[in-house]
Amino acid sequence: MIFSPNTPIQNITRILPAYQKRLAKLGIKTLRDLFLHFPHRYQDLSAIKPIDKLKLNEVATIQGKIIDIKNIRTWKKRMAITEAHVQDNGGLIKAVWFNQPYLANTLKIDSLVSLSGKISFDKTLFLSNPAYERLTDQDLRHTGRLIPVYPETSGLTSRYMRYLIHLFRPTINQIAEWLPPATIKAQKLLDLQTALRQIHFPDSTKTLAQAKRRLAFNELFLIQLFALQQKIKWQKSRSPKITFQQNLIKNFVDQLPFKLTDAQRRSAWEVLQDMQQTQPMNRLLEGDVGSGKTIVAAMAALQVIQTGWQVAFMAPTEILAQQHFQEITKVLKSYHFPVGLLTGSGAKINLKNKTTNVQPKEFLRQIKNSQIKIIIGTHALIQDRVKFKNLALVIVDEQHRFGVEQRAALQKNVSQMDDGSPATFPHLLSMTATPIPRTLALTIYGDLDLSLLDEMPKGRQEIITRVVPPTSRAKAYDFIRQQTKQGRQAFVICPRIEISDKSSVVSDQKEKLDTNHLSLNTLRNWDDVKAVKEEYEKLKKIIFPDLRIALLHGQMKAKEKEKTMKDFVAGKTDILVSTSVVEVGIDVPNAAIMMIEGADRFGLAQLHQFRGRVGRGPHQSYCLLFTESSSKSTQARLKALIACRNGFELAEKDLQLRGPGEFFGANQWGLPDLTMASLTDVELIKEARQEAIKILKTDYPLKNYPSLLEKLANFQKVIHLE
Ligand code: ADP
Ligand code: MG
Repeated sequence: MIFSPNTPIQNITRILPAYQKRLAKLGIKTLRDLFLHFPHRYQDLSAIKPIDKLKLNEVATIQGKIIDIKNIRTWKKRMAITEAHVQDNGGLIKAVWFNQPYLANTLKIDSLVSLSGKISFDKTLFLSNPAYERLTDQDLRHTGRLIPVYPETSGLTSRYMRYLIHLFRPTINQIAEWLPPATIKAQKLLDLQTALRQIHFPDSTKTLAQAKRRLAFNELFLIQLFALQQKIKWQKSRSPKITFQQNLIKNFVDQLPFKLTDAQRRSAWEVLQDMQQTQPMNRLLEGDVGSGKTIVAAMAALQVIQTGWQVAFMAPTEILAQQHFQEITKVLKSYHFPVGLLTGSGAKINLKNKTTNVQPKEFLRQIKNSQIKIIIGTHALIQDRVKFKNLALVIVDEQHRFGVEQRAALQKNVSQMDDGSPATFPHLLSMTATPIPRTLALTIYGDLDLSLLDEMPKGRQEIITRVVPPTSRAKAYDFIRQQTKQGRQAFVICPRIEISDKSSVVSDQKEKLDTNHLSLNTLRNWDDVKAVKEEYEKLKKIIFPDLRIALLHGQMKAKEKEKTMKDFVAGKTDILVSTSVVEVGIDVPNAAIMMIEGADRFGLAQLHQFRGRVGRGPHQSYCLLFTESSSKSTQARLKALIACRNGFELAEKDLQLRGPGEFFGANQWGLPDLTMASLTDVELIKEARQEAIKILKTDYPLKNYPSLLEKLANFQKVIHLE
């Protein structure tokens, strides 16, 4: 059989079906995927030492001849021990393996072997469970060099991965280079094939570093190319000029029942200024839960509809859309504009402070003739049959919950005013409560403009945050019971647990795909659904049999999730046991307790977001952190959470403490770990950007770079950057 990078693993008979399945679980479907499955660390076994120079406890490689090898039965019987003696020019040493009796047949007497392992002592020095391979004319794979260690999953050891990649390594010669030669030259990069060979079987730490740099550059370059191309495209189109009317905005602000924060003022000003340009706005409004993003959006919306144009405001779930509808109708009530709500379950219009259900057909008609100026909704807004007359502003809440295409769909609404001026695209305001450190935001979002709500409205209650030691668990449960007796509600958040039976990786996959558009390549062995179900059963049956308890996780159907959340918002359940899927923006004023299991498993920013889901009403609220880990670093992290109430600061801290890979947890952009690690490599990012600019300057549609164009198209399918 002739192999190519595209050869499906399935068609390779040398890989047993059981292994094919395990590889598939890691997203490895073709040989190319196999080569793109990078080691996550390396063990340096390159020092080959003479046997008589070995020292106790060092990790070393020896090479010599097998003098004898035999299996020994121990009195315990359960353990098979294989013992061999290996001789080189100057010395002799014993090697011992456990539970690998087949080695006595694999490593024959008189054969030359290479062994790497720790030098132990039992009456005399010996090698304990060393990595082994026969010395043939092939390169070393498992000993005597920098050894790649792969993220392991059930039944796929690093040894097997090395065997496999080594076996098919010649096929790497067929992987085509796609970076332009000029880029490779300017950046002194390794060519792709060399980089792939070196990442798996590095000749030295130097070539390994070069390989990492090249492979990280690949993605950073595509990210920049993508972002810049979008920006150029974006800048070529036109948007309506929305003139800022100072009086209108001043009056609006004056009649609010509260004073805007400085951050809100600044952000609103930035948005209103952007919309005065004929170049489309593309701004991300980032702010903690509760920082008041909706008001900023409302000010922009008011200015737009006052000028005669329409606004579409999209939220990821029906509950959020409804909450926005209520908030917007409330703050705009003295302006008497009709406000529409369109979700999967129907359409409503609020006019003169009265909300009525309307037939979708009638609703669509009123959008089309611009009778309704501001339309709030879910994904329902991007159906083809929804036609706006003159859409000038698209607002997307929790923007990371939508795919690139989904957001683009709304922005495609071209409109034309009656006055005969040229067609225009709407301005875009995205919002998110996910605090992304500024350095990282610039990398990832490339050329999005950023407004930060880094200040909370005054008078917000302080949520009492405590780390609860395992011994006080019963007390905490008592406390929850007391609170529910007083009518309060509680969240219980469960982390992923590492699963011992890794057969459920596939179901885990679904959950993550659902929440994070996760790429299969970065699958890890976690299972949160199992954990949350167990916790739910425990609370329901043993701890709180008398309370109303509900379960929420990512494997539930969207409708079920929605219903569970609605019931909780309506106070029909006392305790909501959930995975991290629980809605970020949701407002449940009656919820006063946020209890987090396995708090050490979450990032600081994420914990902070959980905490933000309580304390939204008049009741004193609590965030209770449970952890089994007493490690110093965990305690330090949780202390930071208690001390700090600013999501951005916590995010920065988290990034420093854990690095970008861990920081993003389930790698939500589908980037390889290698690239994740380089997301804070400012130098490399700058270089990637510079190269992208060089190319786009002369050839913005990439006409002369077909392979780059193809790569970019594929890249967008896998990666979800915004
Ligand atoms: P988020 O940023 O999480 O979307 P919201 O926009 O939902 O926050 O605002 C949360 C609550 O705070 C709302 O009830 C809103 O009316 C209120 N709010 C917004 N800005 C202020 C402010 N400057 N002072 C007091 N309350 C405010
Ligand atoms: Mg919100």
